[in-house]
Amino acid sequence: MIVRTRIAPSPTGDPHVGTAYIALFNLCFARQQGGKFILRIEDTDQVRSTPESEQMILDSLRWLGLDWDEGPDVGGAFGPYRQSERMTIYRQYALDLVEQGHAFYCFATPEELDEMRREQMSRGETPRYDGRGLRLSQEQVRSRLESGVPHVIRLKVPGEGVCRFQDLLRGSIEIPWSQVDMQVLLKNDGMPTYHLANVVDDHLMNITHVIRGEEWINSAPKHQLLYQYFGWEMPVLCHMPLLRNPDKSKLSKRKNPTSITYYQSMGYMPEALVNYLGRMGWSMPNEEEKFTLEEMFEHFDINQVHLGGPVFDQEKLDWLNGRWIRENLDQEQFAARVIDWAINAENLVRFIPLIKERVEKFTDIAPMVSFLLSGMPALKLDDFAHSKLDEETVRKILQFCSWRLDGLRHWDHGILYSELGQIAGEMQLKLRDFLSPLFIAIAGSPSAPPLFDAMAILGPDMVRARIRHGLAVAGGASKKQLKKWEKEYSELSRNRVEHPEEQA
Ligand code: GLU
Repeated sequence: MIVRTRIAPSPTGDPHVGTAYIALFNLCFARQQGGKFILRIEDTDQVRSTPESEQMILDSLRWLGLDWDEGPDVGGAFGPYRQSERMTIYRQYALDLVEQGHAFYCFATPEELDEMRREQMSRGETPRYDGRGLRLSQEQVRSRLESGVPHVIRLKVPGEGVCRFQDLLRGSIEIPWSQVDMQVLLKNDGMPTYHLANVVDDHLMNITHVIRGEEWINSAPKHQLLYQYFGWEMPVLCHMPLLRNPDKSKLSKRKNPTSITYYQSMGYMPEALVNYLGRMGWSMPNEEEKFTLEEMFEHFDINQVHLGGPVFDQEKLDWLNGRWIRENLDQEQFAARVIDWAINAENLVRFIPLIKERVEKFTDIAPMVSFLLSGMPALKLDDFAHSKLDEETVRKILQFCSWRLDGLRHWDHGILYSELGQIAGEMQLKLRDFLSPLFIAIAGSPSAPPLFDAMAILGPDMVRARIRHGLAVAGGASKKQLKKWEKEYSELSRNRVEHPEEQA
């Protein structure tokens, strides 16, 4: 048997460090077993998937050196490797399951399902699909299909008992069938859901080991059922522990930068980031903290992965990155890396429109753009003092902006301008006053190049990190305060005009 592993990212946002972490462990396992590592793009969610996000994922994983043997850009014998190009495949499998009595048509309207859930909740039950489609006679199904009533195809799930499945790291896992929903497999528009497409593709691509994050454990019973119904052998499942924030919550962009591009623009070496991710849940047999990807291939043993939630700690990453810079780069390599990172003509061309009007001589440039090449600006409480805004309002502005920016799925000058302008209006503040704390938090000074252009260049994770940092310097927010603000914020947002493209 040739071991085949895969990473199957959905291109719906910035490339996440969690994707790199899972890719790394899949790659190491494949390399160490003499197998293949495949990259498949899971873009069945056509509303949220974007080609830009896909490109960023591919670029980021390549930057990290986590190369794949087969994928949408390199091809391979099991393609296409993008689910949107495989749409005709899935439907037939769903129909086959209906034919064999393992799946069924459901014609319930969204309103009907809402009503069902409301009733279940009013009885104190957990809302779940109640199997109403199963109660239709063959005749009823046929006539509805003939008259074109909108429908989905759902998976049949045993009514009682317990689902047992094996996990490479966790042994036998049991989940009662009563907790497993009759999953939609094919949507009304003929598109497959994640579960159907994922299982069909893992099978057709001969994937032998599915190594993925532990958030997918609850999907395993549905996947196991699908493999049984299709009569296919199930790959070995291995659910990796999730990366955590230092407070042990799941690593999330609301608390920590999660985008690989953030770590790239902060000036980490890809070797150091990969090394750091390799230490999340695993260690070298000799406990050495600094190691290369090749050394990891050589010594990797999946059975040695420990399950305690690994904490992604930026201070530790800084320390490791410092070692990589000092120990692995001679002067020429150092210079080449810095040029590659940001001190290059391409980057300068992005900055020039922001400063051209104000430059009188070239020595003016560095102070004006230094904040675009820095991490967190050096700030003190006094920097936020403002003649028209009291301290609480300053903090509130930063917090409200942070919340609003968290929800954005597109990031450019126009969207930033309209979103932030809208909050200023809702808070009944003059845009100029409202932007002042943001200028300080993001650029470190009130007189900086145009803010929205700078924000667009810095990117979402860097901007959010600076606003969080600014808020902390400006005095932070207690739990009680946050509760109060949350209420105010949702009152404000109630009347807002949504950007259609921002509604996730
Ligand atoms: N598309 C899923 C994701 O975005 C893949 C999960 C899996 O590996 O099965 O993470």
